[in-house]
Amino acid sequence: MREPFFAANWKMYKTPAQAREYANAFAPLADKFRERAAIVLCAPFIDLVPLREELRDLDPAGFIDVGAQDVFWEPEGAYTGEISAAMLGGESVDYCIVGHSERRRLFGDTDETVARKVTALLGADIVPIVCVGETLEEHQTGRRLDVVAGQIRACLGHLSDEQRAGLVIAYEPIWAIGTGMCDTPQGADETIGFIRTLDGGLEDATILYGGSMKADNAAYLCAEQNVDGGLVGSASLDPAGFATLIDNALRGIDGASA
Ligand code: PEP
Repeated sequence: MREPFFAANWKMYKTPAQAREYANAFAPLADKFRERAAIVLCAPFIDLVPLREELRDLDPAGFIDVGAQDVFWEPEGAYTGEISAAMLGGESVDYCIVGHSERRRLFGDTDETVARKVTALLGADIVPIVCVGETLEEHQTGRRLDVVAGQIRACLGHLSDEQRAGLVIAYEPIWAIGTGMCDTPQGADETIGFIRTLDGGLEDATILYGGSMKADNAAYLCAEQNVDGGLVGSASLDPAGFATLIDNALRGIDGASA
């Protein structure tokens, strides 16, 4: 039985002071999800240490995890502006998003560089949250499954079954990210179910849906058998709103299994 999983992607929002405020507001609200779900807050690099410090006091058992939003694959060197997996691990970062469509579109990430980042993260005991998903044009021309299969094989084909089983994957149709145009629960379920068949280990991986998941659609999306939870952008920025979204999603999951 896979555990429900919710990852906040703050993108380029929140100063260190705002990250601390968020932790103080969110930790008491999230306490009721302990034993029910895994939760990770993926924050800008500069917020990771303050967030971890704050959560150490608020959540000493470490129920709420901290994640980064990108990494560079080399361990160290003359790479101005970059951060290595060893540096993130040294600051007790548990997860790291790689291959988000905003990074692919705006910063040149490719399946090949995502594969190298995944390897670097696994070497530092950080769980990669690997994003895949098709453009609107690919979606409208019926190529969704082919595109996703190509990305999964190129980003994860070099791993063992055991390594793939330990990953978090986020299926994020690009046309749904930040647009308010959420995929249908059936569409998300079908694509994620398909990803589970692509290679050894993926059946057991945690696979999320991402793209305009909100408090009012989370229950329907997460009730689907193959959807383990969400990678949530704008609806994760408000701590009370993110807690409500998780609450609703867990109700959806409970309703589906009743
Ligand atoms: C994201 O950035 O991964 C995302 C899913 O954003 P949003 O929830 O705002 O669509």
